[in-house]
Amino acid sequence: MEVFDYEVAVVGGSHAGLAAAHTLGRSKRSTIVFDTGNPRNKAASRSHNFSAHDGTSPDALRSLAQQQLQQFPHVRYSQQPVTEISISGAGYRLTVDEHDTVEVRKVILATGVTDHLLPIEGLIELWGNKVFHCIYCHGWEARDQPALVLVKGAIAWEVAMTISQWNSQLTFLLHGSAIEDTAKKEQLLQRGWKLVETPVVRVIEQEGEVVAWLADGQVVSGPVAYSKPVRVQFNNELAGMLGCEMSKSGSVLTDAGMQTSVPGVFACGDLSHPGYHQVSEAISTGHKAAAFCNNQLCMEDFVK
Ligand SMILES: Cc1cc2nc3c(=O)[nH]c(=O)nc-3n(C[C@H](O)[C@H](O)[C@H](O)COP(=O)(O)OP(=O)(O)OC[C@H]3O[C@@H](n4cnc5c(N)ncnc54)[C@H](O)[C@@H]3O)c2cc1C
Repeated sequence: MEVFDYEVAVVGGSHAGLAAAHTLGRSKRSTIVFDTGNPRNKAASRSHNFSAHDGTSPDALRSLAQQQLQQFPHVRYSQQPVTEISISGAGYRLTVDEHDTVEVRKVILATGVTDHLLPIEGLIELWGNKVFHCIYCHGWEARDQPALVLVKGAIAWEVAMTISQWNSQLTFLLHGSAIEDTAKKEQLLQRGWKLVETPVVRVIEQEGEVVAWLADGQVVSGPVAYSKPVRVQFNNELAGMLGCEMSKSGSVLTDAGMQTSVPGVFACGDLSHPGYHQVSEAISTGHKAAAFCNNQLCMEDFVK
């Protein structure tokens, strides 16, 4: 009989992974959670659009979830990275921090995504608190104020279409790009919105405003700003090592119970959806992945 160190390994211990561990804890499953402490919303001081928790800081949500895990002595939390993973007998072998190994029966991947921002000085410092990427997360707080929209090229029109529900006075900073589609460009200009094509050199917060310095010396400012990552990179390396099927964008495909194309391997949170990335969804899919994972273990043990 194979001997396992834990029944389940959860890789990624932010909103999705902590929710998965919670359900596994309640299911009396010996579980190890690995987390490198780099969640996507770490820059944001408040998290919104999560009924009953609106406005709570993301760190406070995670701390409470971690605290609640302490009631389950069979759930362990490690801050080490999982660097490799492979199928091993009836389970999986995880390499931790490149040297230790852990053998488990099931795996839940909750490794999230990484945002690559426009390479503009100061942007990273304002990200999540003064420069927003998601209208559902921050649109209400930024509503009805003149807004800067810092994006490149064609995406400006897509962003404008949704932001205009919240903000009616927009200035687009296209950072050295142009909107090539003349009909779409005209739609933005007709609303009286400004399109600035000059590259942005630096952004800072000054007296509550976002101030952008342009390459030609102009300065543009507004009380709020939106931007979009130039690339959202799915942290799918471990899923790739296991041979999990993925979407074109790199999200890990799952069935309705969050199981990937590799039996016994589940995915949840931002990793498991190409674009709907919200704390509530991460938590919901985390709980769901764990319940279906536990069902699978129950079934295997019951018919043994
Ligand atoms: C600035 C900003 C603000 C946001 N605000 C909101 C908001 O107000 N409301 C809302 O609903 N959503 C918001 N979001 C979206 C939200 O952050 C994500 O939907 C949510 O964090 C997804 O949770 P997750 O657990 O799937 O991934 P993450 O929170 O990104 O966590 C993934 C975790 O996995 C760990 N990890 C990765 N690889 C490994 C590995 N190999 N080994 C061990 N650990 C690993 C990482 O360190 C990280 O801790 C915001 C996003 C951003 C960028």
